[in-house]
Amino acid sequence: MSARILDGKALAAGLRAEIAAEVAAWQDKSGRAPGLGVVLAGDNPASRSYVTGKEKACAAAGILSREIHLPAAAGRAGILTAVQALNADETIDAVLVQLPLPDPAIERDIIEAIDPAKDVDGFHPLNIGRLVLGQTTFVPCTPLGVLEMLRRSEVPLAGAAVVVIGRSQIVGRPLSFLLSQKGVDATVTLCHTRTFDLARFTRTADIVVVAAGRPGTLTADMIRPGAVVVDVGVNRVPDPARPAGYRLVGDVDFEAVAAKASAITPVPGGVGPMTVTMLLRNTLDAARRREGGGR
Ligand code: NAD
Repeated sequence: MSARILDGKALAAGLRAEIAAEVAAWQDKSGRAPGLGVVLAGDNPASRSYVTGKEKACAAAGILSREIHLPAAAGRAGILTAVQALNADETIDAVLVQLPLPDPAIERDIIEAIDPAKDVDGFHPLNIGRLVLGQTTFVPCTPLGVLEMLRRSEVPLAGAAVVVIGRSQIVGRPLSFLLSQKGVDATVTLCHTRTFDLARFTRTADIVVVAAGRPGTLTADMIRPGAVVVDVGVNRVPDPARPAGYRLVGDVDFEAVAAKASAITPVPGGVGPMTVTMLLRNTLDAARRREGGGR
């Protein structure tokens, strides 16, 4: 078997065109563009490039973006001031703080300072609580991108056995809530570093989502023939032949797993473009909710 490639780049392009049309219609009605405020602290090159990617995607969709770039030394007080300024800015509907912060110990405090009505990353405890309760909320962009990708690729989810590898607060754990929600109806097993005999779970799964951050976490012997595999991982592997000196790989042993799976996401060009697209979707939703228009 040779797997169908779930092309996140192509799916995202179609979705972004849909969102751009909705943004234009919303702007016609409300007289302004939806606005996203981004706080970037320090000069981590990966964070810089993620923020630039988000800003470019906003511009292409007709969403205004306002960046507050702070020096790494800005610390807790400086970052809180920036978040409060964006919370109070009437032209800004959505606020995100690019993680990781130079001091990861303050991340929780900073996230809790974001106005939950503008929390388009869905990391605020109020929004996570709403997700757990199955209420309307901002769902973190990567889990939402995975769900959208599976739905648009017509992968059956109701009753499917899904194994999620990784229990982080931004990917694995919210994804497990999302996929097991009423209306999605998958049966989810959440695995992590303390899972004994990971393959015991993955081998019986209809769908395996890998978000471990370690190349080679899922190998071909760990899946059943015909399984659907979603690779969330993004890992930089040194590669002197590339101008950047590295190449990106996922968490899945791609070639061998693709030979056995029925469908698989590539890295790059899989989940990544869907994540940024869901940020656009959440920003438009935030603007609609703030104007009381709903959807
Ligand atoms: P994290 O380090 O916070 O969490 C990783 C989780 O995986 C942990 O819960 C850990 O217990 C588990 N894990 C690690 N190795 C494992 C193993 N061998 N077996 C079982 N469980 C294991 O990472 P994260 O923030 O959730 O990100 C995961 C990966 O996804 C990273 O590579 C990250 O770069 C990538 N990511 C991609 C996108 C995207 O848009 N494509 C977005 C967010 C994160």
